[in-house]
Amino acid sequence: MKRRIAILGSTGSIGRQTLDVVRQHPDLFQIELLTANNSTELLISQAREFDANSVVICNESHYREVADALHPDGIKVFTGIQSACDLVAGDNIDIVVASMVGFSGLAPTVAAVKAGKVIALANKETLVAAGSVVMDLAEKHHAPILPVDSEHSAIFQCLLAAQGNALSRIHLTASGGPFRTWDRTRIEKATKDMALKHPNWNMGAKITIDSATMMNKGFEVIEAKWLFDVEPDRIHVVVHPESIIHSMVEFEDGAVIAQLGHPDMREPIQFAIGFPERLPLNNRKLDFAELGSLSFAEPDMDRFPCLALAFEAIRRGGNIPCVLNAANEAAVAAYLKDRIGFYDIAHIAEKCMAGADFVANPSLDDIFASNDWALARANELIDKWLY
Ligand code: MG
Repeated sequence: MKRRIAILGSTGSIGRQTLDVVRQHPDLFQIELLTANNSTELLISQAREFDANSVVICNESHYREVADALHPDGIKVFTGIQSACDLVAGDNIDIVVASMVGFSGLAPTVAAVKAGKVIALANKETLVAAGSVVMDLAEKHHAPILPVDSEHSAIFQCLLAAQGNALSRIHLTASGGPFRTWDRTRIEKATKDMALKHPNWNMGAKITIDSATMMNKGFEVIEAKWLFDVEPDRIHVVVHPESIIHSMVEFEDGAVIAQLGHPDMREPIQFAIGFPERLPLNNRKLDFAELGSLSFAEPDMDRFPCLALAFEAIRRGGNIPCVLNAANEAAVAAYLKDRIGFYDIAHIAEKCMAGADFVANPSLDDIFASNDWALARANELIDKWLY
């Protein structure tokens, strides 16, 4: 029987690459549900090509356009985020690829978890903001969470080789982003166009800025803590500019298992949606002689303070990572509009973390409240030039 797939955020980078994997294996996968916020043309063409059962265009102002286009094809069209939450729980869906951007992915991912779906998780903000809540729900509702983030897919694959032996450390690799070799004064003046030029990975705007600040790597530390139940002091970030080793796991005897490949998100995507099988993929294979050598370095928390902030947030725990995530989301949006400078992203995040009321064991409602508070606080700091 074909695996029936819902893609939350099908017009984004991960969504499009998921459809590319599905396109190569039409005998294995069936697309049931696609959701998008605003990219109507692409959503319509995807729905037709893959003969989706339903689509959700979350932005209600685009509903008529999408409905008029797809109704003649017999494809159901819905609008609003609540529709996405309702439809992912449907009996016609086995796997939910959670690839929406930012905190907006939390509600539909939680709905899929509560319905016991297999979650292929690309939206790391879900675990950054609400890790304890989401992991508890996943256990309660027997919803496996399979990582799509390349580093976490690597760790997951390394742990499969561990035969149940406990890990002693995770080595989480980081490309270092476009400013890896820049000094602080130069980074300080970096424009969004410079920050949007990632050396190895071709991704959406939000995650590309997060990679330039290394907030993305900090979020991945938090994501790894929740996915693999590892304390942050056992997670070692190592800068590896070539992005060939996607991450490594070290065991008590000092042995290290790594997972390697060229940077291509279709690889972790196929591993998540095809699990436990490995599927043929038309990607570039490694040629070690051509690679010649691989290099490594310690991350620089002084030039990349967002990485230190993420470690601080997960050590404090409770709702603080949620506050950091929301502050970052507001600050990155402002940076992308040229309203603030590069290091202001860290300044704003730090101020929000310092001013937040601490909630030790947040419920889902507490998480939504903390997110709202931190978004409002960050936007207030931005509007009043208080960073
Ligand atoms: Mg990653």
